[in-house]
Amino acid sequence: MAERIIEEFLNLVVIDNESLKERQMADYIKQRLESMGYAPYEDDAGAKAGGDAGNIICKIQGNPGLPSVMFLAHMDSVYPCTGKVPVVKGDFIESSGNTVLGSDDLSGVAAMLNLAENLLNKDRLKGHVWLVFTIAEEIGLLGARNLDLSSITADFAYVLDSGGDIGRATVSSPSHNTFTAVITGKAAHAGMEPEKGISAIVAASKAIADMRLGRIDEETTSNIGIIEGGRALNIVCDRAVVKGEVRSRDIGKLEELSNEIADKFKKHADAIGAEATVQMTREYNSFRVGEEEEMLVRFIRALERLGIPYVEEHSGGGSDTNIIYHKGIKALTISTGMDRVHMKTERISIENLLNLEKLMIELV
Ligand SMILES: [Zn+2]
Repeated sequence: MAERIIEEFLNLVVIDNESLKERQMADYIKQRLESMGYAPYEDDAGAKAGGDAGNIICKIQGNPGLPSVMFLAHMDSVYPCTGKVPVVKGDFIESSGNTVLGSDDLSGVAAMLNLAENLLNKDRLKGHVWLVFTIAEEIGLLGARNLDLSSITADFAYVLDSGGDIGRATVSSPSHNTFTAVITGKAAHAGMEPEKGISAIVAASKAIADMRLGRIDEETTSNIGIIEGGRALNIVCDRAVVKGEVRSRDIGKLEELSNEIADKFKKHADAIGAEATVQMTREYNSFRVGEEEEMLVRFIRALERLGIPYVEEHSGGGSDTNIIYHKGIKALTISTGMDRVHMKTERISIENLLNLEKLMIELV
C-alpha cells in the first residue's frame, strides 16, 4: 500500500499543467476519482478566469454527525512545466533538469487522490471529507478566488501547498499590495532644448532612491519589480511606469508603507514639474491562525501520534489559504515535502511522500 502514493505522484507529474491550461490534469483527476466510485464535479472557475478547466470538487460522504474536513491543492505548476520527466535518484524524486518537477503542487494532488483511495476502507472514514483541486494558483490564486464555498460544508481545511519536511504548518501569512506608478513628464529634444523637457525617468529614479525597499522588518517587505520608460536616446523621457509590491503581516504597516511609497512618487514628480498617478491594489489579506483553532490542534495531535515534530512557520507569500480563510473556512497550509520549488532542481523525498500519506489518514 505504502508505495501507491509514489506511483500516484509519478503518474501526475508527467501531465502538462500550466496555469489556465489544466484541462488534461482536471480530466485525469476526475477520472481517477470516478474509478474509485466517487462523484467529482467541476465548477465554472475556468470560464470566469479564462482557463480551459474549472476547479474539481469531490465530497466523500462520511458520518454527518462528525466534524468535516476539506483538503485543497492546486493543479497548476509554474513555468516551465510542459514535458516534465521525473527521475528517481536515491531517496528523492527530482526533475530531469529541463522543467520544474511539479511537486508544487502535484505532491498535494497525489496525497489527496491517495487519501481518496485509502478512504475506500470505511474504517478510516469519519466525518465528510471534501477534496478541492484548484486552477491557476500560481498566477494570482484565480481558482480559489472563483471557488464557490457555499456548497462546501467543511468545518475547517488543510491546504497542501508548502515546502519543507512533513510537520510544518504556516500559521500566518502577509497581506499583499501591488502598485503601478505612471509618471508623466514632458518630451523634448535632448540635444537641442533639454531645458524644455521634464524627465519622467529622473522623477521615478529619485522617488525610488528615496523609498524603503527590501526587508523592512521581520514581517514587512517591499520591492520594485519592473521599470518601463523612454523611447529614444535623444528624447527627454516623458513617460515612465514603475511596478512593485508591498507585503506585511501587519495591516497597519502595510498601509503605512504603501502610502509612503505612493507619496514619494508624487513628491519627486512634483519637485521637477512631472505628474505621478499611483494605483494600489490589495491582492489578498493576511491571516493568523490562533493556537486554539481546531485544525491546528488536530494537526499537532496527528503529528504526535506519528512521532513527527511540529514546526511552526510564518510565510512571506500568499496561497489559496489567504482566499479560503477570508471566504469563511478556517484553513491551515501544511507542507507536503516539496523542496527547491519554482526551480528546475525541484525535488521531493520519498520519505516525505510516505509520511504525507500517513498524515492524511491521521487528519481524517
Ligand atoms: Zn503551490
